Amino acid sequence: MTAITGTSAWVIELIEALWADKGNDMRLAEPERAWDPPLIGFANGADALWAQYKTVVDPGHWTPVEAWRLAYPDVDVAPEELTVISWILPQTEATKRDQREQTLYPAERWARTRVYGEQANHRLRCDVAQALTDAGYHAVAPMASPQWSTRDSEKYVYTSNWSERHAAYAAGLGTFGLCDGLITPVGKAMRAGSVVARIPIPASPRPYTDHHAYCLFYARGTCGECIDRCPVGAISAEGHDKRVCEAHLTRSRAYVAATYGFDGYGCGLCQVGVPCESRVPEGIGD
Ligand code: SF4
Ligand code: SF4
Repeated sequence: MTAITGTSAWVIELIEALWADKGNDMRLAEPERAWDPPLIGFANGADALWAQYKTVVDPGHWTPVEAWRLAYPDVDVAPEELTVISWILPQTEATKRDQREQTLYPAERWARTRVYGEQANHRLRCDVAQALTDAGYHAVAPMASPQWSTRDSEKYVYTSNWSERHAAYAAGLGTFGLCDGLITPVGKAMRAGSVVARIPIPASPRPYTDHHAYCLFYARGTCGECIDRCPVGAISAEGHDKRVCEAHLTRSRAYVAATYGFDGYGCGLCQVGVPCESRVPEGIGD
């Protein structure tokens, strides 16, 4: 894990304090946190991966310096002066327990984290960027940028100009699974967030070179349990069919409204009840 220096310790404390804010809530009848404590990693703005993402993700995927300059167009900055601060927000045990029981549509807690939990994550992005900027470390949350957008992609069906999961991969927080989810030390039942800041923090170790290193299917030729968890056949040995998955997410809206009584959606059945749900699968990296 990351060697804790003065600056990185300060940033970790800052994010943890903002995570504990009352916005981190499911909005059930009683207060209940949407997310467990964050896992945090750092990547340098000059990391060679950012240039590679132009090829393997999308030519429009921003490098950290491109994202940062959208907010500070008149400030000269070198890529190596920037740090990408990435975090993982793990689902709680209560949410995972409920979700494991589901076979077609999401559990109420899961649907609530998809909507209200992600709102809290978005607020966290904005609050972390603001707090860093107030402290003199100019920062931007790429996902909160007015220029952030998604677009159709021949290779990946759709893509965006900043991917939280790819930022987390660069920051040493996990690798991709057969279902496209990011398998982290706290599993893949999670959401991710990030900011780019002009702050000197040593990069976290990246204990992998293969982007599928933590997935049993790719690393060992075993598992494939997420294939069986998907109710609509969106996962196969060939990977994740985003179109089939999206269509199911759209259908989930009517279910969530009728069953739980709020305007939400979600699925994520492939993220629980599998060996990578809450950890890097046993036997990998041990
Ligand atoms: S359930 Fe198995 S095959 Fe699917 S992503 Fe996790 S480790 Fe890989
Ligand atoms: S999110 Fe749902 S529909 Fe999409 S791949 Fe996972 S289980 Fe299948």
